[in-house]
Amino acid sequence: MQAPSIGGVQVPRGDGSTPVRLRRGASLTDFAEKINANPASLVTVLFRLGEMATATQSLDEDTFRLLGSELGFDVQIVSPEDEDRELLESFDIGGEFDDDEEDLAPRPPVVTVMGHVDHGKTRLLDAIRKTNVQAREAGGITQHVGAYQVVHEHEGVERPITFIDTPGHETFTAMRARGAKTTDIVILVVAADDGVMPQTIEALNHAQAADVPIVVAVNKIDKEGADPTKARGQLTEYGLVAEEYGGDTMFVDVSALSGLGIDDLLEAVLLTADASLELVANPTADARGTAIEARLDRGRGPVATVLVQRGTLRVGDAIVCGDAYGRVRALLDENGDPIDEAGPSRPAQVLGLTSVPGAGDTFLVAPEDRIARQIAERRAAAERNAQLARSRKRVSLEDFLERSKVETLNLILKGDVSGSVEALEDALLQLDVGDEVDLRIIDRGVGAITENNVMLAVASDAVIIGFNVRPEGKARELSEREGVDVRYYSVIYQAIEEVEAALKGLLKPEYEEAQLGTAEIREVYRSSKFGNIAGCLVRSGEIRRNSKARLIRDGVVVADNLQIHSLRRFKDDATEVREGFECGIGLGSFNDIKVDDVIETFEMREKPRV
Ligand code: GDP
Repeated sequence: MQAPSIGGVQVPRGDGSTPVRLRRGASLTDFAEKINANPASLVTVLFRLGEMATATQSLDEDTFRLLGSELGFDVQIVSPEDEDRELLESFDIGGEFDDDEEDLAPRPPVVTVMGHVDHGKTRLLDAIRKTNVQAREAGGITQHVGAYQVVHEHEGVERPITFIDTPGHETFTAMRARGAKTTDIVILVVAADDGVMPQTIEALNHAQAADVPIVVAVNKIDKEGADPTKARGQLTEYGLVAEEYGGDTMFVDVSALSGLGIDDLLEAVLLTADASLELVANPTADARGTAIEARLDRGRGPVATVLVQRGTLRVGDAIVCGDAYGRVRALLDENGDPIDEAGPSRPAQVLGLTSVPGAGDTFLVAPEDRIARQIAERRAAAERNAQLARSRKRVSLEDFLERSKVETLNLILKGDVSGSVEALEDALLQLDVGDEVDLRIIDRGVGAITENNVMLAVASDAVIIGFNVRPEGKARELSEREGVDVRYYSVIYQAIEEVEAALKGLLKPEYEEAQLGTAEIREVYRSSKFGNIAGCLVRSGEIRRNSKARLIRDGVVVADNLQIHSLRRFKDDATEVREGFECGIGLGSFNDIKVDDVIETFEMREKPRV
């Protein structure tokens, strides 16, 4: 590597293809370290390229590529997945499930319910749960834990089916993108009285993109005016052709309200699974899977509902889930009853983690506690960097130079479960409100809004968003005293809508009136050609031609919406006349002027944003 000077700055150069691997969210300092350069010199080079950044700020891929091509390096941004794979490999843990054919055994299908809002996803999940509870005459599944398993008798055999039970989240990109990996079959709910709607299509696209077979539940058939054939016809256009129309998609008419058709739906799920999927897993290996939901329980600490995808999870296992780790202290089923182990496709609540993992985080059983901890710690560090990169949207040089133009809305997100916090964060960061507004999520977490959250909001002028959570202890009092804006939501859409509106509000210029000058009428000249002309003395400021004006008589505004049509000094037209000078003012067609009236001029100025 040579070190020629670029505009006086010494920077090592590559030959155009010299590779540099950087993790996502890296900074110029990281880059400098890789190529043996001085970080400050990279700041300078980047500046010349029209981008301004500090040495330690996380930069995006485009910026690194720009800098790389200038300096002759082929910048490769290592994805978090690659990074994690490398991390696991360093502990001799393979990334893929490398099971021998003979170890594989059938496993139950995992089902996600999707569909348009209000088409009955929640109801359907409840109905399926209830049907099954009645059938087994067991204790009721009362608590929503993110996933449950039911048993359906199919051709004389009792077969379990696992349901991901996260209504309200699944329409969000984050959950869908991750959910698809855990889902074998999608039940697409379409209300018979409403038909195909935008989110129906969204859900459909997602399932098809992930190559997940779909069973259509045509819901609300109990309703008057319900037309179950309508949904069938509409979905044909999207490649979902009902079996009775010669296609290969099973459509089942159901009523989540009355429970009608639920058994048929479960039957259809099993038939579809058997026909198009070979669902197998190795039950004997160390367990691996995904966290569906996680929360902080007051008494029990972090509780994660995990879905085992391979192997068998047992009490006592050393486990790492995202950047949380621990030893499985107890495993509970969806009823809250303890179980000793959970095999493939089995959802289970795990107690014993040291922190709350994120929804969609994968988990694995590590050979030792120490390794679980090390993996978790390395992941936490990587996640911190990634979050830094995510929350910091790039600000261009122009924005920097006109710093006052950049509006920042700082947010702190708190939610009841990590799934909602993540879904909210992802959706918020995707809001597109132009370059002038910068949205920063400076902190997020699961649990009540704490005094710490409020203090951070005070320090950084942030708004706190509470999703299904409330302030704890003195936090409310503190927020009121400090004037922190805390907003509570229980519907993600609503939170997003309001934040979007707030962002747009920031963008909307606000105008305020600025007085320019006042002139007192000393004399009124009548002109047949120009109408009445006011002979004035400018009392304050200046009078400008064409500016907006109003007429004040005895302290009362008698006419608004006027304009300085003509302005003269002696015989000459003037553009402005200053305080202390005399002038002639014509107000156009407005002629009702009297001696001692005051003409006030003003303009509307954009209010400086604070
Ligand atoms: P989601 O937004 O898709 O989860 O929809 P919900 O499950 O919350 O249901 C939306 C509304 O439709 C609720 O008022 C339900 O009571 C109602 N609903 C759901 N399923 C049925 C059904 O089969 N028949 C009727 N009549 N109403 C239903």
